[in-house]
Amino acid sequence: MTDLLSVRDLEVNYHTERGVVRALDGVSLAIGQGEVVGLVGESGCGKSTLARAILGVLPAPASEVVTGTILFAGQNLLDLSSVEVGRRIRSRRIAFIPQDPFGSLNPLFTIGQQMTDLMQWKSPVAPDKPGRGWPTLLAPYPAQRKAQDRQAILDMLESVQIPEPAQVLSKLPHELSGGQRQRIVIAMALLPQPELIIADEPTTALDVTIQAQILRLLHREVKRRGVSVLFTTHDLGTAWEICDRVVVMYAGQEVEVAPNEAFFAAPRHPYTAKLLQSLPRADGVAQDIPGEIPSLIAPPAGCRFNPRCEHASAPCRTTRPPTVGGDHKVRCYHPVAQPLAQLRWGGAPSYGAEGS
Ligand code: ADP
Ligand code: MG
Repeated sequence: MTDLLSVRDLEVNYHTERGVVRALDGVSLAIGQGEVVGLVGESGCGKSTLARAILGVLPAPASEVVTGTILFAGQNLLDLSSVEVGRRIRSRRIAFIPQDPFGSLNPLFTIGQQMTDLMQWKSPVAPDKPGRGWPTLLAPYPAQRKAQDRQAILDMLESVQIPEPAQVLSKLPHELSGGQRQRIVIAMALLPQPELIIADEPTTALDVTIQAQILRLLHREVKRRGVSVLFTTHDLGTAWEICDRVVVMYAGQEVEVAPNEAFFAAPRHPYTAKLLQSLPRADGVAQDIPGEIPSLIAPPAGCRFNPRCEHASAPCRTTRPPTVGGDHKVRCYHPVAQPLAQLRWGGAPSYGAEGS
């Protein structure tokens, strides 16, 4: 599979009054064409930072990309200016679905206005630089395109199962339910026909029953269109349900990358094994991982999990382990080899394993 996105050795810091937060410490990951990759990790491990770095929306001036590359379709996005990324990449070739749909919907404009506005600037045929067809005050939106785009919007609302699409277009965001708003945001992500969607915990803010519907919908629509997805979640059950491949992060470092089945059959990093053990089992018993997530202002040297790891040895405390393994990669000097059965994981995803 050719990689659509390849992040290599990405290091991102935030400068704060308390000190420098070393949020990403040389993170690498790749996403193939049409692949759904789950970026899994506990809150604060750097998932949103990675998502924002790819989208070119890290907060300025607090954040700093220290080193690394973000190759998208062969081009290093970090070489482009923010104007170029805004015009040519973001919302057009790489779309975003945030955790809170209010974050990407303007409360003051109707859904129809916002979707039309999106298509005016980001539809697959909209120009991505000033020139012919570029909207001006006198010719903001060629009439023929406007009619086509309206039809595309209505068709997309049908795909994401919005009942009575024409009525919904005249509504304001707060007039819709949380689930409907997230369907609208998914529709807006898909409309420009992006190659990649970054979905940052897209269902965390929703009721559990709605979460399952939205996940199934998103999965079906991206698979139908062959769109690649980077899906961040703190929930292993969600990753298990919808991801082709899983990337696990701990405290700003990726520690394990594996195809879904291989990962959940036998996790190889001591942290990941503990994480699976820490899920509630069928008998309701959960085993916490001893110790605490480190501060990212003064993180441990080497593997950041080493202070909590029962396998840690001298090199773990000084030098970050290299990546070992083929399809199932792990960054660890002492990978474990425990099949899932030994972990006694209840296999309990956050919602039932119904098909889509
Ligand atoms: P996640 O999405 O996995 O919860 P984040 O990427 O949001 O993690 O955060 C990673 C680390 O960076 C955390 O320690 C967080 O406190 C810190 N961080 C995130 N955003 C900022 C910011 N704007 N300024 C300073 N620190 C930040
Ligand atoms: Mg986050």
